[in-house]
Amino acid sequence: MSARKTQVLSIIADFDQDERGMRPLDLKKQMNLDKSTVTYHLNQLEKDKYITSVKVGRSKFLDITDKGLELLENDEIENPVKASCGNCGDSYASFEEAKNCCTETDEEVKASK
Ligand SMILES: [Zn+2]
Repeated sequence: MSARKTQVLSIIADFDQDERGMRPLDLKKQMNLDKSTVTYHLNQLEKDKYITSVKVGRSKFLDITDKGLELLENDEIENPVKASCGNCGDSYASFEEAKNCCTETDEEVKASK
């Protein structure tokens, strides 16, 4: 599962602006991707049964399946937060980002010693 697919899944899972589900157009807007890329990922996800879609008139509505939700949960376990800022405790996906958090404060602390 690519990071992009997981991202698409989590956006669909979090969408709650329309009870019928999320339209591919909403997804396209949120992810800032072109239509063919969105269509490609949606087709893959639907083929693997991570999402379902319902056609209402000319619109298509997407919804995440139990299999999709399970995948998102497992992904969080496989990719846990890797680092946290030693100063404020904020969590980051990499040490580089954690190191850059509160940089100014760290320098101030050092200078005062
Ligand atoms: Zn910090």
